[in-house]
Amino acid sequence: MINVYNTMSREKEELVIDNNVIKLFVCGPTVYDYSHIGHARTYISFDVIVRYLKHKGYSVFYLQNITDIDDKIINRAKERNVDPLELSHKFEEEYLKDMQLLNVTNVNFYARATEHMQAIINQIQTLMDKGYAYDTPTGVYFDVSKFEGFAKLSNRKLDDLQNVRISVDSTKKDPKDFALWKKQDEEPYWDSPWGKGRPGWHIEDTAITETYFGPQYNIHGGGLDLIFPHHDAEIAQMEAASGKEPLVEYWMHTGFLNVRGEKMSKSLGNFITIKELLKDYSPETYRFFVLSTHYRSPIDFSDEILKQAENSLNRIRNTGKLLLDYYNSEDIADSNEETVVEDLNNFKDEFFSAMDNDFNTPIALSSLFDYTHKLNKSIASCIISKDTTLEIIDTLKTIENILGIDILVEDSVGSDLSNDILSILTDVREKLRAKKDWDLADKIRDDLSQLDISLEDK
Ligand code: AMP
Repeated sequence: MINVYNTMSREKEELVIDNNVIKLFVCGPTVYDYSHIGHARTYISFDVIVRYLKHKGYSVFYLQNITDIDDKIINRAKERNVDPLELSHKFEEEYLKDMQLLNVTNVNFYARATEHMQAIINQIQTLMDKGYAYDTPTGVYFDVSKFEGFAKLSNRKLDDLQNVRISVDSTKKDPKDFALWKKQDEEPYWDSPWGKGRPGWHIEDTAITETYFGPQYNIHGGGLDLIFPHHDAEIAQMEAASGKEPLVEYWMHTGFLNVRGEKMSKSLGNFITIKELLKDYSPETYRFFVLSTHYRSPIDFSDEILKQAENSLNRIRNTGKLLLDYYNSEDIADSNEETVVEDLNNFKDEFFSAMDNDFNTPIALSSLFDYTHKLNKSIASCIISKDTTLEIIDTLKTIENILGIDILVEDSVGSDLSNDILSILTDVREKLRAKKDWDLADKIRDDLSQLDISLEDK
């Protein structure tokens, strides 16, 4: 059983899915620049959520849109004197490359807004026919006063919204009404029953999800910033057009990646691109860093915390390597000592119940970290049988798949510097042993073993 926090009910709910097939939609990026590590935070979180759902036996169809036409894209293209679609498709390509590098590999289909123009127009037409939308000289707008319960996801009252300017346009009946179609004669435009123009931001998502999932589906995800107005607008559009509710059973939102308390964003200009980050850190270190915080909580980005994540991952991998070496060594025990199986079972319980509880990766990772300490000791004392070693390896392989991070790596891990220091220490210790200075040699070995590094005297 998995419990999921549903933004709509503001409670954790048991995930109940008919036929074990999950239709999941997560809002994709607006591609007018390189993606930053805040985007990566959201997409890594959903990647792990999908990996875990699959591990639990669900079959998941994960759909993401690509906003390839939008004001920001058009403005950026003007600044650079290039074609807006050329610009957006270049950055879409870069986004997909970044996701591949970060091992975000579970999206089944990326749907471009511009390739769903007919579905968008059809949905707007339905809203017009049903009296939820109206046409003005500047565009077609959704009339929020016609949709009972507007903003039910963000839980805002219509009266509170009086001062919220969704977009300024004097032809709108009410400032809260939002654009379904923006009229314009300048390229890029598409023909529609209301004249040349392009779609509003919210309608592309419901037109895309209706195309692939129909009017209702299981899970919708995105960053916290999208709850209002974007997701509230999606609910209004699709529920009004289809007459069916709810649009979505479970709404899931990720917290922000912040820099000094402020959301990392392209518009604030305080962003680090994924490409920049990957010059200094491995993709797996970044995944580990992201997963060390619960997906709904904010993360404060700092080099220090990333370095800690790198060290923790290296230590876990050291254990992975020790375990593989132990499995192939002649020292492997014939039978287990009592605690070995108990430690493994406790660890599995902790890890998987944390994941079942709204995908609590930080608790799952800390149980993994604690377990590796125990494992290091058991390996050093050669008290694990071959069968159990294999079972541990299998468990860690399952976990690797869920986290999208390799743990069982053959080559030595750790920074070059720490490897160099280690080699100096072992040389010194060899010299001490040659001089029969057993006390000091043993002290070096014991101190290193506190760091989970075991030295063997051959
Ligand atoms: P955008 O390209 O701005 O539409 O963002 C694409 C996705 O990334 C949305 O789900 C956003 O909520 C999410 N996102 C953008 N900035 C951040 C951030 N700093 N932290 C977490 N998620 C973010």
